[in-house]
Amino acid sequence: MAAKPREAKRAADNTRDSGGGGLAASAAALAPGHYIVATPIGNLQDITLRALDVLRQCDVIASEDTRTTLKLLARFDIHTPLVSYHQHSGGARARELVERVRAGGAVALVSEAGTPGISDPGHELIRGCIAEGLPVFPVPGPCALVAFLSAAGLNTSAFVFAGFPPRKPGERVRFFQDLASETRTVVFYESPGRIRATLETIAEALPGRRVCIGRELTKLHEEFLRGPVEEVLGVFKERRPRGEFVVGLEGTPVAGGASLDLEQEYHFLMSQGMDDKAAISLLARKSGRSRREIYAAVLQWKGKRGDDA
Ligand code: SAM
Repeated sequence: MAAKPREAKRAADNTRDSGGGGLAASAAALAPGHYIVATPIGNLQDITLRALDVLRQCDVIASEDTRTTLKLLARFDIHTPLVSYHQHSGGARARELVERVRAGGAVALVSEAGTPGISDPGHELIRGCIAEGLPVFPVPGPCALVAFLSAAGLNTSAFVFAGFPPRKPGERVRFFQDLASETRTVVFYESPGRIRATLETIAEALPGRRVCIGRELTKLHEEFLRGPVEEVLGVFKERRPRGEFVVGLEGTPVAGGASLDLEQEYHFLMSQGMDDKAAISLLARKSGRSRREIYAAVLQWKGKRGDDA
């Protein structure tokens, strides 16, 4: 029986595959533009059908890591020309790729793994295209941050993605101290070489904070570790950290549902085990006041409570 007009329209809407870039059907040519194509972060089966279409049909694939991309292309029998595009490629390669799009080409950008542009190279190219008024089409799919959050069990109603924490120890300490009163979940990427030092810094700056670590997501040795930071750190004191890591920190509970003022925040930081010096520096930085001013205020706050000055 023939479908009624409205049902036929609904069926067409549900099956439509002409997303950004005018990919109306697998065989159709791609519209000119830059395609930001997400690729698997471990399990090759996580590639999307649309990503395969775009990689097959584009004029050139710009890849952060051609070795990894070649493996992916070989697995799916794709023979599109490949050029490298990484953080040391410089502006010349970005301009060359922008020119290709301006001349009517379709360029796909892939990173080593996951979604290009999320804590990896690609911005220059994407911004170049946008500045030139050329189209940029997202082709969504795997992303380590999202894969992690989907299974970590942390509060995801609001979260902050912090990229990679600073490498220098002093900056790293300040980075985590600044997160002491962050009420949202904080997620960041970390390398196996620095994960231990980073957990040590968290244990110092935010004692007792609950964390979740996602290791080797979607791969053979996928693992989630959850608990107070000291416990999770203990695991990596016993065995050498290997693989790739995403780390999530539980947010600080909001006191009474209201935002904390400086005095409350000071007492909160004390209750979390932070020392006076670190708390004064943190509050001075956050409020834009001098340390001397905050120190004077701290003496008063302590006086009110009858603490030792
Ligand atoms: N753009 C990518 C994305 O969005 O998935 C991330 C690129 S960033 C340069 C690489 C970092 O992502 C790694 O150092 C690690 O922290 C994280 N990562 C990538 N793949 C992962 C995996 N399978 N398991 C855990 N973390 C992963």
